[in-house]
Amino acid sequence: MEVFKFGGASVKDAAGIINVANIILNRSKTQLLVVVSAMGKITNQLEDLTKAYLQGDPAVEEIFKAVKNYHFNVLNDLFPDHQASIYDDIANTFVEIDWLLEEEPDDAPDYIYDQIVSIGEIVSSKILAAYLAKQHAHVKWLDARSFVHTDNTYREGLVNWEKTEAEIKKTLVPLLEQNIAVTQGFIGSTSENFTTTLGRDGSDYSAAIFSACLDAKSLTIWKDVPGVLNADPKWFDETERIPQLSYHDAIELAYYGATVIHPKTIKPIQNKNIPLFVRSFLQPGAEGTNITGLNNHLPVPSFIFKVNQALISIFPKDFSFIIEENLSDIFSLFHKHKVKINTMLNSAISFSVSFDHDPVKLQALITDLSLHYKVKYNTGLELVTIRYYNQQTIDRVTVNKNILLEVKSRNTCQIVMRDKVPATT
Ligand code: ASP
Ligand code: MG
Repeated sequence: MEVFKFGGASVKDAAGIINVANIILNRSKTQLLVVVSAMGKITNQLEDLTKAYLQGDPAVEEIFKAVKNYHFNVLNDLFPDHQASIYDDIANTFVEIDWLLEEEPDDAPDYIYDQIVSIGEIVSSKILAAYLAKQHAHVKWLDARSFVHTDNTYREGLVNWEKTEAEIKKTLVPLLEQNIAVTQGFIGSTSENFTTTLGRDGSDYSAAIFSACLDAKSLTIWKDVPGVLNADPKWFDETERIPQLSYHDAIELAYYGATVIHPKTIKPIQNKNIPLFVRSFLQPGAEGTNITGLNNHLPVPSFIFKVNQALISIFPKDFSFIIEENLSDIFSLFHKHKVKINTMLNSAISFSVSFDHDPVKLQALITDLSLHYKVKYNTGLELVTIRYYNQQTIDRVTVNKNILLEVKSRNTCQIVMRDKVPATT
């Protein structure tokens, strides 16, 4: 029993769906569950739709029309016979959102968000399942909301593992004996059967949930890169694929911002010791990266870049020391404003923190902190994290940079920096 996860880029158009179907049909004959994301950038468009609806913006109609057209264009390419039942099936799914959009947006915004945004995955999975059926596969479309049970934290549903595992074992396991099952990433449901989502880019996490509950033999995440690389090709000319990675290193890389795998993905499969393969849907025969419980050390230093960082330094107003009481007060304000810390360093009289710069959150945080502390801040910074660093790698990334903060542990170095301003004459 294996699990395959396909992200939005792999199913962005008809050619993508055909390619994914070929990967599925050409696998060695094992039982298979397929977890799929919304097509291309549809989730972003559905987020725009939700925003427009909440603001009473007449653009609602136009945005939704674009979403529908996008999918119907793909259907036209895949199913020349317009009598095919998939046309009605997709149209009916959209009608449910039409109904919702006709009402005034009286419910909580996060609840509304989940009801709208989740349809991206519903329609992509229906299209993929219908195309596989057209290729004579024994395929069953399954609604992930019947399996993935969450609390009612909309937009960030917290998984009820016990209920989820029980439902998957009871209903899904027998189904997989005869069928390839196609289901959605990213979505779940509350105990009252309302749709929740698991946070942006949450489909990897969904795939990990299913894999863990099914005790899968492996999970394969199919990406548009040849595996996990030691740096993002966007920032580095020479990148290397890492053939073998330990769960531990994978968690560290994901945590520090390597976007190849969602950070929540590793833990559930590590607990069950399920290997995770990251492979390219563009070169399905190529090797990729195997993430396992092996205790191997990354073969090369790895670099993770984040731009648009803010750095704030906090000082007690009375020049007392930064003590535990102050720290607990400071952390609770970060928590209150939902600011996720990327780096931190404390000294006797100051505490410095870097995080992704969101102007609204930054202002609110500074306002609160300023009641008790003196605050200094910088924005427009870069953060580089080097896993398995040495002086050479640090020198390489800090050429022409001013370093504002440097934090080192045994295996990881983090540097907050900005471009050196050329001296004016
Ligand atoms: N479609 C969702 C998103 O784009 C989930 C995912 O792709 O993982 O955030
Ligand atoms: Mg996506």
